[in-house]
Amino acid sequence: MNMQRQVDFIIVGQGLAGSLLAFFLHKQGKKLLLVDPGREDTASRVAAGVINPVTGRHYVKSWRIDEFLPFARQTYREMESLLGAQFYSDRNVLRALFSTVEENNWNAKLGDPGYAAYMLPKADPAEWPSTLQPVHAFGELAGGAQVNLARFLESFRAWIAQNHTLVRDHFEYEDLDRSGELLRYKEWSARAIVFCEGYSAKNNPYFAGLPYEGAKGDVLHISLPGPQPQKLLRHHLFLVPLEDGTYWAGSNYVWTYKDQLPAPEGKQWLTNQLGRILKAPYEILDHKAAIRPTVKDRRPLLGVHPTFSNIFIFNGLGTKGASQGPFFARQMADFLNHNEALDPEVDIRRFDAKTR
Ligand SMILES: Cc1cc2nc3c(=O)[nH]c(=O)nc-3n(C[C@H](O)[C@H](O)[C@H](O)COP(=O)(O)OP(=O)(O)OC[C@H]3O[C@@H](n4cnc5c(N)ncnc54)[C@H](O)[C@@H]3O)c2cc1C
Repeated sequence: MNMQRQVDFIIVGQGLAGSLLAFFLHKQGKKLLLVDPGREDTASRVAAGVINPVTGRHYVKSWRIDEFLPFARQTYREMESLLGAQFYSDRNVLRALFSTVEENNWNAKLGDPGYAAYMLPKADPAEWPSTLQPVHAFGELAGGAQVNLARFLESFRAWIAQNHTLVRDHFEYEDLDRSGELLRYKEWSARAIVFCEGYSAKNNPYFAGLPYEGAKGDVLHISLPGPQPQKLLRHHLFLVPLEDGTYWAGSNYVWTYKDQLPAPEGKQWLTNQLGRILKAPYEILDHKAAIRPTVKDRRPLLGVHPTFSNIFIFNGLGTKGASQGPFFARQMADFLNHNEALDPEVDIRRFDAKTR
């Protein structure tokens, strides 16, 4: 008797990328199998889920943020109703300015009409300074947000287990049988498979040659005295007030490392930064680390295997998965189901075929 159970797609990895893709494929009426062991040390579990529309030393709008942000907000809100969970919050971002030069540069950007939706004419830092070392000035951004990714992933995982199929295990590449028209994996058969493995994709034999970089980041969870602010603080670190009354503090960017474990030097660097930010005493509650799935050209990785037309990848969300993820997950779903074109700047075919 044939005990094979059929789905439309197998998705490997239930981080932010795999979950968002599963959501859009579900909306397109597809039957899904998700495979993920549920590890705690993945980028999506360790991240703060901040969406910051204007970043860097030159206060530049994040890549395509005007497109990504409204779509991200709409997607997370829709998922909140589907899952019956709250994980998306609009949040202003306070930006510490450390000198007159920085303040002048900030003010110069304020006059740019392309920034009017984000940069407020006057910052209101009142809810933060009692805990902070004195700062020259603050700027304030509207249009920021925070996605509670741990809650997002947990509620989506429970929903997938009820409405589709969830295998709480590592995917074994050698068990993928490509010999027939349908793919076979253990007791399942599927039209196609999509790998959404974050930085672990560098070990995937089908896509090992893509130019992954992988930026490791350490974070601290701390407690601080006093009432909790609502606004996110971009200082020497990002300080993110969490709903349980604690704070997320991070993060560093480490490009060479021997593993993804929390590193003593990462903790040291973070505590040095916290010493420059806070005058209030704080307590370290936890230290975590993970590797961001960054790519050499800082763009996502979407596409199909050059030889096997039913094997796909959705990855490379890098440092900005919370804002970019929804937009490209929908694009990936439309590519899978309707063969709609991928943006050339995210299509893996932008890399020379010999790198794959
Ligand atoms: C310290 C830190 C801070 C960050 N802060 C932010 C932030 O504030 N805002 C923001 O937008 N982004 C942030 N990021 C980046 C963000 O986390 C990523 O863009 C995003 O989470 C990547 O999601 P992913 O699903 O591609 O990868 P991952 O989160 O790594 O998920 C991959 C999943 O695949 C599973 N998997 C891998 N291989 C297999 C296999 N063979 N079989 C089964 N399962 C497998 C893993 O267990 C994991 O669950 C941060 C990242 C880090 C590390």
